[in-house]
Amino acid sequence: MMAAKIIDGKEVSNWVKENLKKEVERLKQRGITPSLKIFLVGENPASVVYVGNKEKSSKNVGIDAEVLSYNESVTEEELLNKIKELNNDPKVNGMIVQLPLPSHIDEDRVSLAIAPEKDVDGFHPHNLGMLLRGTPTLLPATPYGVLQLLKYYSIETQGKHVVVVGRSNIVGKPASVIFLLKDKFGNATVTVCHSRSKNLAEYIKQADILIVAVGKHHLITKDMVKKDAVVIDVGIHRVEDPTKKRGYRLEGDVKFDEVKEIASYITPVPGGVGPMTVAMLLQNVVNAAKLQNGITD
Ligand code: NDP
Repeated sequence: MMAAKIIDGKEVSNWVKENLKKEVERLKQRGITPSLKIFLVGENPASVVYVGNKEKSSKNVGIDAEVLSYNESVTEEELLNKIKELNNDPKVNGMIVQLPLPSHIDEDRVSLAIAPEKDVDGFHPHNLGMLLRGTPTLLPATPYGVLQLLKYYSIETQGKHVVVVGRSNIVGKPASVIFLLKDKFGNATVTVCHSRSKNLAEYIKQADILIVAVGKHHLITKDMVKKDAVVIDVGIHRVEDPTKKRGYRLEGDVKFDEVKEIASYITPVPGGVGPMTVAMLLQNVVNAAKLQNGITD
């Protein structure tokens, strides 16, 4: 049997970043340097790594990125004041707040304080509302990355049955709306499943395109998937592996080794959706800089 074509998120994210370099160069010639401020509170090791990645990747494409590091004891008011100041600074195009925040700070209040046009994570109700009404501006980076992967491989969703497993505000729910947009990479018939769905396997079996964002290791097995389906795995899990130097390897929500035997396309973990998330964040910073400067080309 033919094995699936591997959707190479590293290749696509590098392509996105190469294009961004050129776009940033053109913006700089017009006197605009896209700028991103990254709020980091405390020293959560995972957060420090994520923030470092975002800063480095931004700088690589020419975005002026700065990490604003705060002590664990920072007050909510202090953060809100800084966000307000940066909302009013025309040189700042994008802001993100690395979560989680310490428990004395209300994450929602801080995230929602960012002006919608600078919300490059795409989590603000304004941006989610724009997506829902069919005129998206800044899209949440992970589902935006999924969309970009499908576009790169010319996998059209029009008329297809897209089944999204997971309904989080950052992945599943916005992904389901993206594939409803009136576009050849939208126009899908969308089914959304979650932890209360009955007969999950029955829905999954109907998917032409299956998007899994659950957070359950190897939930999706070969017997659940339709032949020649396109399988996009958003899940990331650390699996103990003493043969690796760091002691673990990464795997997804999909049992890759067996599902690849039946799918037509499949994303691996790592190297699938993961690398796309940072690339699309950078894309959002550039999109925001263009929107704020009235540039439409
Ligand atoms: P959440 O925990 O916020 O949401 C998980 C969703 O899956 C919920 O809607 C939940 O249902 C649903 N669910 C849980 N168990 C089942 C089940 N047995 N059957 C069907 N649905 C179920 O997770 P996220 O969306 O934030 O993340 C999902 C995964 O993606 C995680 O592994 C995360 O690490 C990864 N991730 C990867 C990113 C990347 O860059 N590649 C970015 C973001 C996340 P209910 O709503 O009923 O609780």
